[in-house]
Amino acid sequence: MIQPKKHYKHLFFDLDRTLWDFDSSSKQTFIDLFEQFNLKSFGIQDVETFVSVYNKFNDYYWDLYRKGEVTKEVLRGIRFQTTFDSFGLDNKLLVQQITEAYLYHSPRNVFLFPNTHKTLEYLQDKVTLHLITNGFEEVQEIKMQSSDLRKYFTTIVTSEEAGVKKPDARIFEFALKRAGAEAIESIMIGDDLEVDIEGARQFGMDTVFFNPDKVVHPGNATFEITDLCELCDYF
Ligand SMILES: [Mg+2]
Repeated sequence: MIQPKKHYKHLFFDLDRTLWDFDSSSKQTFIDLFEQFNLKSFGIQDVETFVSVYNKFNDYYWDLYRKGEVTKEVLRGIRFQTTFDSFGLDNKLLVQQITEAYLYHSPRNVFLFPNTHKTLEYLQDKVTLHLITNGFEEVQEIKMQSSDLRKYFTTIVTSEEAGVKKPDARIFEFALKRAGAEAIESIMIGDDLEVDIEGARQFGMDTVFFNPDKVVHPGNATFEITDLCELCDYF
């Protein structure tokens, strides 16, 4: 629970897994694609099996992407390529089609965390809202449009635009400069202890760790919430 403290003027939100329920959205997309591409006919048992393999490769390559070791284009295709490889499938056309279909449908399958609109609606009258995301620019833009979140945010910074990714301090510097905000009056809200919380803390910002699954952790965020609406009690 956040203790009353009212000096913040600028709230910076992460998008994926903070407002946008990435895992639910992605899961629904895979359920649809599994059906559409009839992946069972390729010998893949069920969608859960496919997703658990895909997630491992996706996490692995996302980590490399974050470190600048693979490009966006490589990441997009290789996570599917390696997933199909591990099922013993060598079908380049299928990889290409499913890569494109996933990129198209995933940001349009709208799943938000509970109370997202209610919280942002309330907060927008009290403070100025911003977004800092490591996601791809065009994908995040589609998510913002399809979920109708765009209207709440005064500035949006993507890592592609900033040239560096969270937790690099320079993306926070870039975002605060664009917002016309000082670190002391700003707070970062995110679900990732390393990327959002530690990154912002290193830059001198206070932080809110969004922890809906109530995981036990060693992180040191300024505050912690399990539901976005807790922010309404605070501001
Ligand atoms: Mg996140």
